[in-house]
Amino acid sequence: QVVTRFAPSPTGFLHIGGARTALFNWLFAKHHGGKALLRIEDTDRKRSTQDAIDAILDGLSWLGLEYDADPIYQSQRADRHREVALKLLEAGHAYKCFATPEELEQMRAEQRANKQPMRYDGRWRDRDPSEAPGGTPFTVRLKTATEGETVIEDAVQGRVAVKNAEIDDYILLRADGTPTYMLAVVVDDIDMGCTHIIRGDDHLNNAFRQLPIIHAMQGIEDGWEQPVYAHVPLIHGNDGAKLSKRHGATGVEAYRDELGILPEAMCNYLLRLGWGHGDQEEFSREEAIAAFDLAGVGKSPSRFDMKKLLNMNGNYIREADDVRLATLAAQEMGGKVDETLLAEAMPVLKTRARDIKELAEGAAFLFTQRPLELTEKAAGLLGDDARAMLAKISSRLRGISDWTTDALEASLKAYAEELGLGLGKLAQPLRAALTGTTTSPGIFDVLVLLGKEESLARIDDQAN
Ligand code: GLU
Repeated sequence: QVVTRFAPSPTGFLHIGGARTALFNWLFAKHHGGKALLRIEDTDRKRSTQDAIDAILDGLSWLGLEYDADPIYQSQRADRHREVALKLLEAGHAYKCFATPEELEQMRAEQRANKQPMRYDGRWRDRDPSEAPGGTPFTVRLKTATEGETVIEDAVQGRVAVKNAEIDDYILLRADGTPTYMLAVVVDDIDMGCTHIIRGDDHLNNAFRQLPIIHAMQGIEDGWEQPVYAHVPLIHGNDGAKLSKRHGATGVEAYRDELGILPEAMCNYLLRLGWGHGDQEEFSREEAIAAFDLAGVGKSPSRFDMKKLLNMNGNYIREADDVRLATLAAQEMGGKVDETLLAEAMPVLKTRARDIKELAEGAAFLFTQRPLELTEKAAGLLGDDARAMLAKISSRLRGISDWTTDALEASLKAYAEELGLGLGKLAQPLRAALTGTTTSPGIFDVLVLLGKEESLARIDDQAN
């Protein structure tokens, strides 16, 4: 059975790149009828506040990623991590290092001065621990191979090889007995039964340090099966540099709260960012589960394109349920608006909006109070001639009993023809009077949505 895991470190929000990793893991597990697991890597106790953890859980649930078990908290598993380190020590795959921090600092300084790679030189690897004075604090280090190479057949990167000499004898247990991150990750992956490790390719180097633990433990405990690795290229900004704050929002919650993106649009955009399936652009959740595979994950970094996300979001808004959109737009408008009216207006409003903010902006005219405050541009359209024309329009429209877009269109077109003007010349001041602005949905839709009484009152406010 396929088991995947998403293993975020709580840093305050769910990063866009993390969200994509989460999605890929989740889809891969579901595609194979397997299990998607979540592990919170909260060993950095200073950063891993409950707020930071909640932000991640909240982001994942917004994206609709439900997990097949309760989250595992890495910090609660320190005893097991320690146990594995001690077993490695006992079996001779790890050793005690009594080097003091000062000594190691000096070692690094010398390496730096000699332009050598800075890595632990194995000074306690073959020494007898009894040489250290009793009570000297020690770390436990993994005894890694010094010759040959380690090869990973990565499901995304292909064959990657690293010389074992480049992998130093890194620390498994610190002098205070706490396990290191490198150890914790492997132990948790194995104990959770993960068959596939799908994560950002910034962790590819770590894989070469994690594998030796797995291989060493194979002779000690059952169940240390080597997982399949899939290291996914990171997301870059539109300038080709790794995605960071200066490219705009990097936290998923900002896309929801500040940018008005729908979760299904976000998911689909992230899915397509670095994964392809023929030329299909949009996938329902079911289609994504059916189609997702690691073969479709690209080898080069993809670029985050806000415009594309917004366009995609617009498509999803047009397909979304009107009542749901009304609720979201109402939230964006700060609550106190008539959601039923918003929902009624939605088929008209949603034809042009690319995000929830635009939806709310487009809907604002429905709720403004008379007399309307005009934008500068709108006021500019209401000169004496225009005001006189509005008076005529008002009396014509008053005679219409069938207040529909068809009837209104017929009446206003006829009037425009009488005046020898294009419809736009009529519509502009009318829009200014009805909405206080110069942009709105189609003018007949605006009239219908406002209703006869309110429309005429707004026109009369500006007419003379
Ligand atoms: N906790 C790591 C991160 O947030 C991921 C570790 C892993 O996937 O192995 O970058």
